Amino acid sequence: TPVVGVLALQGGVIEHMRAVESLGARAVKVRAAEDLVDAAGHPRINALILPGGESSTVDRLCRTFGLFEPLRDAIRGGLPTLGTCAGLIMLSSRIQDPAPGQRSLGVLDVTVNRNAFGSQVASAEVDLPWLGPANDVVGPDDHLRAAFIRAPEVTRAGQDVEVLAKHGDAVVAVRQGNVLGISFHPELMGDTTLHRLLLDDAARHLTQHG
Ligand code: GLN
Repeated sequence: TPVVGVLALQGGVIEHMRAVESLGARAVKVRAAEDLVDAAGHPRINALILPGGESSTVDRLCRTFGLFEPLRDAIRGGLPTLGTCAGLIMLSSRIQDPAPGQRSLGVLDVTVNRNAFGSQVASAEVDLPWLGPANDVVGPDDHLRAAFIRAPEVTRAGQDVEVLAKHGDAVVAVRQGNVLGISFHPELMGDTTLHRLLLDDAARHLTQHG
């Protein structure tokens, strides 16, 4: 059974753990570097979720708990990772409108506008057509059911970044290698498509790396 670590410093942790468990995987909370790798240096998790919340708070707590570099190194090392909302902001290489002193992990080559979707769509629920490649989990006729809560927008995506979904003209779901970043909250809508994609990646990663 794949083990999925959910960063549990702040924000929507439980919903992601339930989504992962509903798919038959094991969910564990990540609160310290030791939750990522054991004393012998072996990975403890096969995939990682950075939930929504408040990205500047998550950033600050990551640094307080000594998790910033270990998270960055694990993701750079190929750990399949899904960041939602504040999690997407944490993954980004640049934040257009950071809070004072706010940093991001820089593992996804995008610029984000942290508060692009303001109060007018504060709790919008929409169906987004899938724009990514067809695979076993999701195909061209499929939709993602999304809730937007003070959501960020991807305002620049690097050459190696695939666009998976847009909301109007705004890019709201992307992938670069092992890293998935989305603006919205599928876990609040009972949509497990992205979690299934993550587990698919984790299974592939497991067979390649033992
Ligand atoms: N705008 C928030 C931030 O800066 C993200 C909101 C969310 O995760 N729902 O982190």
